[in-house]
Amino acid sequence: MDKIVALCKRRGFIFQSSEIYGGLNGAWDYGPLGVELKRNLKDYWWRCMTQVRDDIVGFDGSILMNAAVWKASGHVDTFSDPLVECLITKKRYRADQIEPQSGIAYYYKGITTTRTPAAIDLPFAVLVPKGKPEASAQKTARQFYTARGYAEAEIVSLELEKSEPVENSTKFNPENGSLLSEPRTFNLMFKTYVGPVEDASSVTYLRPETAQAMFVQFKNVLEVSRKKLPFGIAQIGKAFRNEINPRNFTFRSREFEQMEVEFFVKPDTGFEWLEKWKEDRLAWYEAIGIPRSKIHVLTVPDADRAFYSKGTYDLEYEFPFGIQELEGIAYRTDYDLTQHQKASGKPLEYFDEETKSKYIPHVVEPSAGVDRTVLAVLCEAFAEETVKDEESGKEETRVVLRFAPRLAPVKAGIFPLLKNKPELVAQAKEIVKALQPLMKVAYDEAGSIGKRYRRIDEEGTPFGITVDFETLEGAKEASTSAMGTPIAAGQKGTVTLRHRDSMKQERIAIADLFAYLLAKIA
Ligand code: ATP
Repeated sequence: MDKIVALCKRRGFIFQSSEIYGGLNGAWDYGPLGVELKRNLKDYWWRCMTQVRDDIVGFDGSILMNAAVWKASGHVDTFSDPLVECLITKKRYRADQIEPQSGIAYYYKGITTTRTPAAIDLPFAVLVPKGKPEASAQKTARQFYTARGYAEAEIVSLELEKSEPVENSTKFNPENGSLLSEPRTFNLMFKTYVGPVEDASSVTYLRPETAQAMFVQFKNVLEVSRKKLPFGIAQIGKAFRNEINPRNFTFRSREFEQMEVEFFVKPDTGFEWLEKWKEDRLAWYEAIGIPRSKIHVLTVPDADRAFYSKGTYDLEYEFPFGIQELEGIAYRTDYDLTQHQKASGKPLEYFDEETKSKYIPHVVEPSAGVDRTVLAVLCEAFAEETVKDEESGKEETRVVLRFAPRLAPVKAGIFPLLKNKPELVAQAKEIVKALQPLMKVAYDEAGSIGKRYRRIDEEGTPFGITVDFETLEGAKEASTSAMGTPIAAGQKGTVTLRHRDSMKQERIAIADLFAYLLAKIA
């Protein structure tokens, strides 16, 4: 993971937000290559959802909404995580993410000090892994008491009450053994005020998910799109959660983007659609270069599911830091529309012309994280391998990002063999100009061809196009193709097309290059 993070910074995929000020925990900036990758990913999702199927329409809701939305959806009351705090370092953790610990627990009743009164009732506990000395518990306990204002020299004795083995407890901090505070609920929504007056009536929240705007606009979208059930609304946008403990690079951030579909179905078809969406989404990940074998489908157990969901699948990816959620596919029943209908007093029912009945549609929601998917794509693409240099034949390590061409930030690197031969440069630049309206390409004339290939390998560019003397030979005369189409002089020649993954090279006519590349990156 460290290598991937370093490559992301070195090549301009992802930077720490506000880096020169020491950063901001849980916020990230995408650099020139990262933004292209992210955009390609979102564009492909958008195309798959709204363009190649006609039962889903697009939508772009606002981030700020009437606070009543968040009350009705249940977020104000229940969108929270259990927070615990280390009694020594004050670091905060999500109670449900504490790794269970076993060992010997030492319970301290309090301390005796040189102050009056000497005995102070200040309970504390430490967990020491089996086999470690009691002295380490004493050391941690002393840190606890000194953090509360008692100087080392003042402490006469620690009153150890009992010690007993503990199995799989989540009450202790895995990092230092210190007892954690009792969990308290912590609402993850970022609160803000709308307008100049900061009072209770102006409170609203930065949306913690994109979904709610699609529910509250369900009626409007249904009417204007003249769709019948089943039909969906798709949206990509920012969401904000004041995560207790952002970690694992961009995986858990406080500001992130989601790609969500609210798919409205007839009430008795919810489970059927849940299965269909699971298959559809697995195929989608395969199309962006994440094989099915790397995605684990977790059937979320009853106890862990959101209270409104009748069935949820989590699609999880094998990240280097563990198997973790990429996307949740939840059968949300009619919960959201029912809540908004009740709270707003506005009807959100659907009139079924077939059965001549009115009902609130049920919803299946595939909800994916853009940033987590970008991270999974980066992890999947990253490879370090020993290869023979294409020019010198010497063995060397190459770092390569094997992005699916449709996601690659730059589709082709275009190189004149030598930078001091104006004809080669001119021809290469002509190819750049011809390709630019169709795709992102990069011109590079610096260094040996081998070095230039290595550079584009690290950036994940799938094709290298080299203009050499053979190109110029063939490009001298204009002609017509077999179909009778005129071929300009410059297009007649051939170039070397080098493939990133196999490092194989072939010659291809410039006239065929465009169609070839377009088919590969679609
Ligand atoms: P987790 O259990 O990991 O906190 P969640 O189950 O709360 O996630 P959902 O509410 O289902 O997540 O959100 C849908 C998707 O949004 C997730 O699958 C994930 O890809 C993305 N997502 C949620 N929280 C974050 C976050 N803090 N940072 C980045 N992406 C996130």
